[in-house]
Amino acid sequence: MRLYDSLSRGVHDVEPVEPGRVKIYACGPTVYRYVHLGNLRTFLLTDLIRRALEFEGLDVIEVQNITDVGHMTDESSPEALDKMLLAVEDEGLQPLEIAEKYTQEALEDMAAVGIRLPDVMPKATDHIPEMIELTQTLIDRGHAYVVDTGSVYFDVTSFPDYGKLSGNTLDKLKAGHRDLETDPAKRHPADFALWKAAGPGRLMKWPSPWGDGFPGWHIECSAMSMKYLGERFDIHTGGTDLRFPHHEDEIGQSEGAVGHEVVSTWVHGGFLQLTGQKIAKSTGNVIRAPELIERGLDPLAFRWLTFQTRYRSQMDFTWEAMETADQRVRQLRRHVAEWGDPAPVLGPAAEEADARFREALASDLDMPTVVRIVNDLDRSADVPPAEKRALLASWDHVLGLDLERDADAAWQPDEEVRRRVAERDAARAAKDYASSDRLRDELQGMGLEVMDTPDGTKVRPR
Ligand SMILES: [Zn+2]
Repeated sequence: MRLYDSLSRGVHDVEPVEPGRVKIYACGPTVYRYVHLGNLRTFLLTDLIRRALEFEGLDVIEVQNITDVGHMTDESSPEALDKMLLAVEDEGLQPLEIAEKYTQEALEDMAAVGIRLPDVMPKATDHIPEMIELTQTLIDRGHAYVVDTGSVYFDVTSFPDYGKLSGNTLDKLKAGHRDLETDPAKRHPADFALWKAAGPGRLMKWPSPWGDGFPGWHIECSAMSMKYLGERFDIHTGGTDLRFPHHEDEIGQSEGAVGHEVVSTWVHGGFLQLTGQKIAKSTGNVIRAPELIERGLDPLAFRWLTFQTRYRSQMDFTWEAMETADQRVRQLRRHVAEWGDPAPVLGPAAEEADARFREALASDLDMPTVVRIVNDLDRSADVPPAEKRALLASWDHVLGLDLERDADAAWQPDEEVRRRVAERDAARAAKDYASSDRLRDELQGMGLEVMDTPDGTKVRPR
């Protein structure tokens, strides 16, 4: 698998630090607001990288954080309002209740578009000690300083590589950098907070060696990525807007603390635009996954829509294109059902299509080509229907479009299967994971795929 690395500005092979196992860190949702389709496009990129690597037979460990503190200031407004405080006022809930509510909403929206849950979803507020420790390490190593108020800043002049990811090197920043942190005690305008002293009215604050306060936003991703994935890991993903300052600052922190490169490949996804404007809260142009469902569209078809554009390019969202994608996915499902049972072996034409599919995926996730390959196969007169069915069922592990849905709808579990499903749900409710795993293995042994859904165990023919 080859991916474009934003740092070296080139396409490279993914060569995991630990052979056979790829470690991925993805910047996750900020939970004082809903996630929108633009966020979901970025999260889908990570999901796709993971699925493609697993399709190649690699193990993947994926960590995606939940930002529930530290990125709560609206830096686009002159008053620098704390968004969490605004949400607390608007909704009459406590900060942790707000965070819990929007975390659940984010997980549901991610599941709706077929994003598989990461292996670990650490919350920033559960990792304050790790962030304090990392901040202390940076002070000890001469990369950070404490000011009178009790805030701690990263000293950008102590890190000669500052700017290597975004191109915002210090000579350029001196000229026209908008000062996001207004503290006059800062030594350089680009210095950024690792720890902020709690001002009056601050609801979320923690004790620290420098007094009560709260962590800066960037430090959480350094602390949590290295805690769960180690001091060297393979892929770090995020939206292109995170390259600066968030990921630039993360590089300074992580490499400043350990003294060597931490991330092998930086992958950044392009914006989703709506009528020419970036989909972001500040523009008021926010579409959420539930709105797709309300309009009678299958949210999984949003995946197919995103596949039409290379992931680094800006993508325009229109309802017309979304409806076309929805119709196409439904049509593919009908075709899969019509093609009958999957063939156990592939002929030469199907093997060739499979090789093309794998090559397109490996080529920095060339999904527009993948779409063409799927369409070609659908129309092909050279590949027998049973082989088309087998191929699309296999490819769907990456596409995630539930292409066998119509074919499965005709299938009904027998009495024995239904009994095991009920037993497994009871075992899971009782937290008897040994029995639950045994029953899953038994169901799989009967040739079934076993899925955990919010409504309990679901099975279908594999
Ligand atoms: Zn992050």
